[in-house]
Amino acid sequence: MSDERVIAYPPQSPYSGEAMIARKVITGTSIVALLTVGLVTVVLDDSDPAQAASSCAAPAGVAAGPAPAGGVAGFDGEQMKNAAAIMKAASDLGLPVAAQLIGVQASIGESTLRVIDFGDGAGPDSRGLFQQRANGAWGSYEDRMDPHISATNFFKALQRVEGWDTLEPTIAIHRAQRNADPNHYTQFRAKATEIVKALGGEAAALVDPSGVCPGEGNQIVGDLAGKWVKALPDAVMTSGYGPRPAPPGTAGGVLANFHYGIDFSTPGQAGTILAITDMKIVKIRNLEGMFGTGVTGQTLDGKLTIGMYHMEAGSLKVKEGDTVAAGTPLGTEGATGNVSGRHLHMEFYAGALPNPMIPINATIDPTPILKEKGIL
Ligand SMILES: [Zn+2]
Repeated sequence: MSDERVIAYPPQSPYSGEAMIARKVITGTSIVALLTVGLVTVVLDDSDPAQAASSCAAPAGVAAGPAPAGGVAGFDGEQMKNAAAIMKAASDLGLPVAAQLIGVQASIGESTLRVIDFGDGAGPDSRGLFQQRANGAWGSYEDRMDPHISATNFFKALQRVEGWDTLEPTIAIHRAQRNADPNHYTQFRAKATEIVKALGGEAAALVDPSGVCPGEGNQIVGDLAGKWVKALPDAVMTSGYGPRPAPPGTAGGVLANFHYGIDFSTPGQAGTILAITDMKIVKIRNLEGMFGTGVTGQTLDGKLTIGMYHMEAGSLKVKEGDTVAAGTPLGTEGATGNVSGRHLHMEFYAGALPNPMIPINATIDPTPILKEKGIL
């Protein structure tokens, strides 16, 4: 089965090996390194910010280095320079990597990272990297055309958005920018991540588009108790966790050469996906082009977060906040999102991750756990 996130990255990406480098850094280093490197951006689930906040640090943003020759993610030298200015404005305000990522994401959506001297139909007086209006809220014309000043003003507005670091990034941006479509910025997240990683050097190589909080040391602490059942009783495993060549027909990208989950497929029919253990449903997502329809659950002891994706649209039998027992039907095996065929993609994260969306580095290998529980 194809990795479902490969095509989010442009074919010209020079970072095919980066995912594995990031992984190596995490598994090969200590908790101290994780904390100091600061992958721990803070984009938390809004359902339980208190719990999430307690397990997440908020490191300062990283300094932006020189742009790689040839650009990144389809963005050229000038655009990368502007992205670096945005990142610097965030770190000058003491904001974390999560904010840098949001700033770059916003500016791609507003101006494709160009200091443009014209507006659009909705805002003819909009100018600059963030298309800021001439209403006085965003400073003078010169301010709005200055990358560092306009970015600083964007980040100040972002900080005024209540819970900006707990919202879905596109919603946080929307509330700062008041774009007509709140979901407008979602499509730019993957590219923004590539840019921030490219400019941020080794530290930012650990940046996760979800702003995910990793489990400490990426280890399950203690035993996982309770009853465990197969997610798809009649399925076969079709792709394991770990390095793999980019699936045929796709170019190498950040995510292409490492499979962050384990795939199961039921031959000849769409199976019913079951909760593999007692869990609380913490997130329901419908993400076209990525995970498709999916469920994120957490074991009741908070030791493990489980993502299950690509279910049939409209098939979900649970909602956020539900607590379900092992064996409870969650939905139907499907082919939603970026997949080449019907299957279940299951991802594990150590700990109770609040918002494990598009994780690329905080996952752990489900295989030993599934084997230990006798369900693989
Ligand atoms: Zn998969």
